Amino acid sequence: MGNVLRSFNDDTICAIATAMTDAGIGIIRVSGKEAVSICDKLYISGKKERDLTSHEPNTIRYGYIVDGDRIVDEVMISFMKAPHSYTCEDVIEINSHGGMLVMNEVLSLLLKNGCRLAEPGEFTKRAFLNGRIDLTKAEAVMDIIEAQSSFALESSRAQLSGNIYDEVVSLRKEILYEMAYIESALDDPENYDLTGFSSELKSKILPMIDKISKLLSSADEGIIRKDGIKTVIIGKPNAGKSSLLNALSGSDRAIVTDIAGTTRDVIEETVRLDDIVLNLIDTAGIRETEDLIEKIGVDRAKEKIAEADLCLYVLDSTSDVEEIDKDIFKLCEGKKTIVILNKNDLTPDIKISKDILPMLFSDCNSIDFPIITTSLLNREGLDELKHAITDIFFNGELAPKQETYITNLRHKKLFEEALDSLKLVVDSIEKDLSEDFYTIDLSNAYSSLGEIIGQEVGDDLVEEIFSKFCMGK
Ligand code: GDP
Repeated sequence: MGNVLRSFNDDTICAIATAMTDAGIGIIRVSGKEAVSICDKLYISGKKERDLTSHEPNTIRYGYIVDGDRIVDEVMISFMKAPHSYTCEDVIEINSHGGMLVMNEVLSLLLKNGCRLAEPGEFTKRAFLNGRIDLTKAEAVMDIIEAQSSFALESSRAQLSGNIYDEVVSLRKEILYEMAYIESALDDPENYDLTGFSSELKSKILPMIDKISKLLSSADEGIIRKDGIKTVIIGKPNAGKSSLLNALSGSDRAIVTDIAGTTRDVIEETVRLDDIVLNLIDTAGIRETEDLIEKIGVDRAKEKIAEADLCLYVLDSTSDVEEIDKDIFKLCEGKKTIVILNKNDLTPDIKISKDILPMLFSDCNSIDFPIITTSLLNREGLDELKHAITDIFFNGELAPKQETYITNLRHKKLFEEALDSLKLVVDSIEKDLSEDFYTIDLSNAYSSLGEIIGQEVGDDLVEEIFSKFCMGK
């Protein structure tokens, strides 16, 4: 894979790989050349013998972690020998009791005996640097851990099994072949003939363009499905914004009150509506929404709305429409917005219905937003909300529509670059330019695709990607 040449620390690292909380079992992971010899200093077998160096690879054994004569914990210890391990190095995993104190004691002993504390993602980084996995698979590992929806999990699994990697490798292989052919022909014109080559090349590039375009067409939906829809809830005081938040989050974390302007708790939520993930932004300002318009002004409100992929505009259907409602409405123009007519349980008092809303807002331009009715107090109407979101973002179909989705912005950008370069090749062919021009753009496409799988990336990017990982992974 070509990553092996990259230099990296090959000291022996350790970290608690399980959650930082009390649990039944905790796993402390050790990786590196000295994994066995270091662990040998603090492990004795069930028969109280110091025999770790004679452990067969890929076995798990019962014993104790000891600090001198003192037994620290009763453990199971597994050994995976290089290169057949997660990191391609010798790996030992100590399964201890899962209490924070006991796990930390084991960790301290490892550090005292020569291990270094692993950085976040360092085990996976080593798997990448040692050439066991490419960058897309490494990224998929983190995505699996962080998956918030079954779509995110499925697409990350597919990525870990190599769907993006395979596409990239096959495209690069084709491009490399053409680059090599041109090079050879330019070097050795007697044996390689370039007559008719350009139209042949074009017929090979066009399907590649199609393939990348198809992949790219999945990207916006893929990213939003995996990472969630940035959502802002707006509306006048007392419309039911906190109640919407509560209904969505299934808890009462937002204080619902009928005294306007009293919610002051800070709430940041990622909520799920079936398999739709909503990242609710600025929920701390839910009650301050009036400030957005009245105090901090339209510009700031506009900024908040601009940040979002989706606006949920909550209207109290028992209130009269005021100028401020129209102002908010206008702010949503051009943004994917769903109007939520709330409090539909208060039937006799309803002043704004689905039917008359367009008329009430007739002096606003953008009244073609979907409108749903809810009783958020009774947590009714969330199914309608889900359907409306599905219509707007996923063409009415929540089930995935294709096998491979691009779900990562980094991949999207690099596929776009590769696509542009390949289009330039076609351009050069159509303009009858010399073969040198094809080579430059083919080589750019080759590099962009290489970056996706980590073949041509700088250390900085590698650092950045892995620093987002959790400890112990
Ligand atoms: P916010 O100021 O927009 O966050 O509004 P809240 O969610 O705090 O709601 C304001 C008041 O309206 C509270 O007393 C809620 O209980 C009430 N409310 C919210 N939704 C409904 C609803 O669907 N029906 C009725 N009857 N009252 C509601």
